[in-house]
Amino acid sequence: MKSKVVVITGASSGIGEACAKLLAEKGHKIVMCARREERLKEIASSIREKGGEAIHLKADVTDILQMEEVSQAALTEFGRIDVWVNNAGLMPVSEIIKDKVDEWDRMVDVNIKGVLYGTHACLKIMREQKEGHIINMGSVAGHVSNPGSAVYSATKFAVRALSDALRKEEAQAKSGVRITLIAPGAIDTELLSTITDPDALQSTGSFYASTAIPALDVAKCVDFAIDMPPEACVDEVILRPTLQVH
Ligand code: NDP
Repeated sequence: MKSKVVVITGASSGIGEACAKLLAEKGHKIVMCARREERLKEIASSIREKGGEAIHLKADVTDILQMEEVSQAALTEFGRIDVWVNNAGLMPVSEIIKDKVDEWDRMVDVNIKGVLYGTHACLKIMREQKEGHIINMGSVAGHVSNPGSAVYSATKFAVRALSDALRKEEAQAKSGVRITLIAPGAIDTELLSTITDPDALQSTGSFYASTAIPALDVAKCVDFAIDMPPEACVDEVILRPTLQVH
């Protein structure tokens, strides 16, 4: 299998960390970014100790210039960008009546604008290469909206909408750039740590405790999508825990 240069946003924990470790084991070169630099440093060291290749950068996906710095670092270190995983996200769920306006803003900024800024940072490079692959982390919440998840779901519906349109634009342009949406259900990560509303934390926490599956399962879907031959694009993978009903 061809070794690819893979950029992963939000690689300091959870799904991003699992993707970085699995894809490095598969022989890919990894560029990781997030805000917690110490965590990235530890993950990069553990990849290198096992013979893998990885670099890391402190970067915030809500800052377009920092996203451009990430793509430049990938080019400087490895000469190209084959895959860009827009994974960074947060899920401070609560009912609309709770008026957590700062959290609404933050989800829109990270979950939607972060995906757009990441795409901005890699798409022209991939067009010039005449190949590339953008993988966006959506959610089952991008298909169904439930009480408490209105804003989070809205951001993930948006990620699905923009992934679909971008895939069509790239297919129309015959650019060789593939777009994949991964839509996981409950995954055991640090995601619930952003919930500040006690009622939402209680109900989401007990649902996750009985249902969530490991982040490695999502990483395997990402690996599957990357590994498909260039003429075949995995548009979307919905990965629910076997026990998850909705
Ligand atoms: P984690 O909380 O474990 O990981 C979130 C990652 O996003 C961290 O690495 C965090 O790094 C990063 N991040 C958050 N804000 C920013 C920012 N402004 N700039 C850069 N990085 C940022 O949760 P998950 O691994 O679960 O989440 C990853 C993605 O998967 C998210 O998009 C989430 O919505 C999605 N998802 C998760 C599901 C689940 O059940 N866990 C289900 C469906 C989708 P740092 O804080 O260091 O910046």
